[in-house]
Amino acid sequence: SSSFANITTLPPDPLFGLSARFKADDRSSKVDLGIGAYRDNSGKPWILPAVKLAEKKLQSDNTYNHEYLPISGHQPFTSAAAKVILGSDSAVIRDDAVVSIQSLSGTGALHVAASFLNKFYTAGENEAARKTIYISNPTWANHVQIFESVGMKTAQYPYWDADTKSLDLKGFLAAIEAAPRGSIFLLHACAHNPTGLDPTQAQWKQIIKAINDRGHLPIFDSAYQGFASGSLEADSWAVRYAIAEQSKTQQPIFICQSFAKNVGMYGERAGVIHVISPDFKNKNAFQAVSTNLQKIIRSELSNPPAYGAKVVATVLNSPELYKQWEQDLVTMSSRISLMRASLKLALDKLEGQTGGNSNWEHIVSQQGMFSFTGLSALQVSRMEKEHAVYLVSSGRISMAGLNEDNVEYVAKAIHEVVG
Ligand code: PLP
Repeated sequence: SSSFANITTLPPDPLFGLSARFKADDRSSKVDLGIGAYRDNSGKPWILPAVKLAEKKLQSDNTYNHEYLPISGHQPFTSAAAKVILGSDSAVIRDDAVVSIQSLSGTGALHVAASFLNKFYTAGENEAARKTIYISNPTWANHVQIFESVGMKTAQYPYWDADTKSLDLKGFLAAIEAAPRGSIFLLHACAHNPTGLDPTQAQWKQIIKAINDRGHLPIFDSAYQGFASGSLEADSWAVRYAIAEQSKTQQPIFICQSFAKNVGMYGERAGVIHVISPDFKNKNAFQAVSTNLQKIIRSELSNPPAYGAKVVATVLNSPELYKQWEQDLVTMSSRISLMRASLKLALDKLEGQTGGNSNWEHIVSQQGMFSFTGLSALQVSRMEKEHAVYLVSSGRISMAGLNEDNVEYVAKAIHEVVG
């Protein structure tokens, strides 16, 4: 019998499978609203002007080479990255109380957090608290398998109220209270994927307080900083607030930071895992966390990829390029906002013409890369079959796939399948 008799062929990954079907479709009207990658107004991938300048600068530097990075990564990258998420005036940075280790983008940071917590986390009140990660319902499809693949369990907290298309704050807070003390909660720092719906600052305050009151450990997944509002400060508000409130708890905070979307470094895998802990006043505790994270990295990838880290470091450490990057973030986030407004306008117009009464307000109130349209799986499948408009079965659309040339076509398709 086969050496691998107990495995069977898996279906394609839902998202990458969708993208393969899109590529194979020869209808000229086809629109890809699947994967969360920015596209410009002509539907093309966009290399940020800040990145182009950084690449030029890097390669003209005569110390540039392809040597291995240290296990912990490219230090000019990891320390500048900490400033991006925590603020350049951050007290924990000033106190040298942040462990920052380079990772394979956001996914790698989450994976390293998962492995580390699975091995070393002891503060939960019982085995369930120590080995369960609470994720939002719904969440990014990969979260479940990232944590389950290292042997942790996942549990869901309520997040999206489908009837009102708004945050189920009551359910969220109740889940925080019901979880055993010291449980682990995964939070989306901004631009929640897939719903595009973030808590308000007042709601975040309640969420963080509830988490601290129960002694839970928060992990912030920060994959869209600056991409949601166009402002790095606004999009890191929740993380910085949680850090400011950390004195009320003994728990560390983990941040899994990706530069895939906000610097457009998707395939270069530039990310960082940061850990901030009240323990780090004790240098031994700091070193223990840092070296054990590095041991995980050493056994899995030996040392992280250099190119993306060097490009991002060049952007972050040059005042001119940083300014250019901030402009690029505004370029991307405002084109997406414009597409939100255009899609809603086109849908409202169609509703007006046909006397329909669907409410599309959520398209403009949501933010970030995605919109959770409320389309059913059946409607999504009709979008693909009948209109060549590709989106994932949850009804999430990547707003960046819209542009001036296709937005009315997409609105018509949505109107037709909903109608
Ligand atoms: N977290 C969320 C919520 C995401 O949407 C993504 C990408 O889609 C990631 C993390 C990680 O992406 P990457 O590994 O490309 O940085």
